[in-house]
Amino acid sequence: MADLARRFWLRQRQALQAPRLPWMIGDTAFTDQCTRCQDCLKACESHIIVIGDGGFPQVDFQHGECTFCYQCADVCPEPLFRPRAEAPWSAIASITESCLASQGVECRSCGDACEPMAIQFSLQPGRVAQPEVHASDCTGCGACVSVCPSQAIHIQSETQRNHTS
Ligand code: SF4
Ligand code: SF4
Ligand code: SF4
Repeated sequence: MADLARRFWLRQRQALQAPRLPWMIGDTAFTDQCTRCQDCLKACESHIIVIGDGGFPQVDFQHGECTFCYQCADVCPEPLFRPRAEAPWSAIASITESCLASQGVECRSCGDACEPMAIQFSLQPGRVAQPEVHASDCTGCGACVSVCPSQAIHIQSETQRNHTS
């Protein structure tokens, strides 16, 4: 029964939150085997890994972006990460309605922060330019998250996008 409850909780977490760490194996297998040693927190060059729910590591893009350095995976003593040659995650940026541009205020902070230029602004009659995320160019690095003055950007995993679409 406890196991069922835990799996339900994990499914809820997957639906509501951004991916936990780049290249990580599935969430259930991860929390089964992660010892919460915090070695990945110390190794992260961007200092974006924090202690999340249940004491497990979790990226927090309010602290910066993932550079995909693979240090978290390299330092981990457990078999919790996939090979670096694979995609780190399927997560991409999603812009919500609290975006200043959607409220008529000129803002291009996210576009300026996006190195792969995955955020493009389209001009529309009678409105300020509106940002749009080009999924095929977005790496889910999170560089656009902390620079947004209205906290309008979230990095969503594929699971979360499926739940909200
Ligand atoms: S280094 Fe590995 S085992 Fe330790 S907290 Fe990070 S993911 Fe878990
Ligand atoms: S890949 Fe590098 S920057 Fe990204 S979470 Fe892991 S250690 Fe941090
Ligand atoms: S997550 Fe990274 S690549 Fe994607 S839109 Fe934001 S800054 Fe650009």
